[in-house]
Amino acid sequence: MTEKEHLSKETEEVKSLNFIEEFVEDDIKNQKHAGRIHTRFPPEPNGYLHIGHAKSICLNFGLALKYNGLCNLRFDDTNPVVEDVEYVDSIREDVRWLGFDWGDREFYASDYFDQIYEFAIKLIKDGKAFVCEMSGEEVSATRGTPNQAGNESPYRNRTVAENLDLFERMKNGEFADGTKTLRAKTGMDSPNMQMRDPVMYRIKHAHHHRTGDKWCIYPMYDFAHGQSDSIEGITHSICTLEFENHRPLYNWYIQELGIFPSRQIEFARLNITFTVMSKRKLLQLVKENYVNGWDDPRMPTICGMRRRGYTALALRNFADRIGVAKRENIIDISLLEFFVREDLNKITQRLMAVMNPLKMVITNYPEGKSEDLDATNNPEDETMGKHNVPFSRELFIEQDDFMEDAPKNYFRLTVGQEVRLRYAYFVKCTNIVKDETGKITEIHCTYDPESKGGKSPDGRKVKGTIHWVSAQHAVKAETRLYDRLFSVENPDDVPEGGDFKDNMNPNSLTISECFVEPFAKTFKAMDKFQFERIGYFCLDKDATTEKLIFNKTVGLKDTWAKVVGK
Ligand code: ATP
Ligand code: MG
Repeated sequence: MTEKEHLSKETEEVKSLNFIEEFVEDDIKNQKHAGRIHTRFPPEPNGYLHIGHAKSICLNFGLALKYNGLCNLRFDDTNPVVEDVEYVDSIREDVRWLGFDWGDREFYASDYFDQIYEFAIKLIKDGKAFVCEMSGEEVSATRGTPNQAGNESPYRNRTVAENLDLFERMKNGEFADGTKTLRAKTGMDSPNMQMRDPVMYRIKHAHHHRTGDKWCIYPMYDFAHGQSDSIEGITHSICTLEFENHRPLYNWYIQELGIFPSRQIEFARLNITFTVMSKRKLLQLVKENYVNGWDDPRMPTICGMRRRGYTALALRNFADRIGVAKRENIIDISLLEFFVREDLNKITQRLMAVMNPLKMVITNYPEGKSEDLDATNNPEDETMGKHNVPFSRELFIEQDDFMEDAPKNYFRLTVGQEVRLRYAYFVKCTNIVKDETGKITEIHCTYDPESKGGKSPDGRKVKGTIHWVSAQHAVKAETRLYDRLFSVENPDDVPEGGDFKDNMNPNSLTISECFVEPFAKTFKAMDKFQFERIGYFCLDKDATTEKLIFNKTVGLKDTWAKVVGK
């Protein structure tokens, strides 16, 4: 969608309910669970959250807000090997930054391990679960295919007493990893492969970041997630489409255990062009140093976007606009950038910075003199006030704003032409100075003292307005300019034997220097602003008063769309 299409959609459209809201409103109307709405966001603490998770967070917390319900933060920590407290902390920070509050409802699937163990005992006692001694390979080899029933495990018909004994000994650590599992007796002939005597528990002698060495058996996702939902009284358990065929098993456990009937609803995961969204792949980029950490501003992680200068409101608006889909799709990243730009336009102060400096000397301006001029902080919002910008005889302007052999419709500087220096004066280029190689080293101008503030003294017009900084006052700073992390729309689309990393854009980061007006020295890390005519930037978290570092957040216009011809 282009910005224009987006805007027209915005004004025309009265937002209709999405299919999840329809389910929820139906349940409220029918007074299911007395009309109570309770959702949860269930991250596995095995990586940093990305923009796809942000979508899920906005959806779950958003539903709770909209329908006066509650949303829990639940860490789905059933796989001790890959989980870490570093991830737990980052997830908390990211959800909070996005603007959501889980109150005192921070839960962990591991808090329920005792209860889940009791659920398993119940199923064993009811003759619905058994201890199997087949290896992982044997289990897969006997599962059958969707069109062909699998073979029952030779251990399926053990007595309840035998199962209880073995399961307890599994728990007590008597057996080695992989030698036994607890499996549900759902049958081996369901067309749904998830319903073929699925594994409920596996043995893993591993230290858990919360339960320590208490357990050496851990429940599988399918025997932990739904059970945690029921324990918490979750009314609507929203997950992504890959769990659609787990739903019958989700419901089977609820029924057999007689526990709270949470309802699972699936939606399509968010995919975005020019990036990847799997934690496993993002971890690879971090571990193999393709990027500088999880919060590298090129990453699609929430912390990366935050460091890049994206705002929480922009992410929430984006999540809201894309809605929820039932089918997989891929969203153009320029839509996200549109929302970032839209928010930054309203909230940021403007100032001037020169990226590729060219020296300008104003020959009729007194040497040694300087003066403070008024610059508007944000033309969109008068209440944001003004700041001083120092002006003097020698300035820096952008190399791009001068052209020696300019065509007729070139409105910026060329010899003989007059332009406005933003907030300052009209200047006219009189001559240029070159070094022995022919490179332009200075351009000389005269200014009109009557045009102070950039106002025409006599009604004469200039067609171009350019930005500048005073050379003696300018602060030198580092700029980090970012481009797409991948050079193709769908990096996962690789020929056989290829790797998604083959699609990385080798020029996704350009570090250079700029000159900025001294106003920038008043900024704190993570402050956001607009460099006039260039784009939105923020001060990096690693910046100091001695060394300013600017991250480019996004350009002023959707130049990318033009480049790829969309
Ligand atoms: P990944 O595939 O990136 O490793 P995951 O699904 O394993 O992600 P979880 O920590 O299990 O990550 O996800 C927490 C919640 O966020 C789940 O409810 C999951 O369905 C949802 N989620 C994950 N990725 C996306 C996405 N791309 N779009 C929408 N929701 C997502
Ligand atoms: Mg998952």
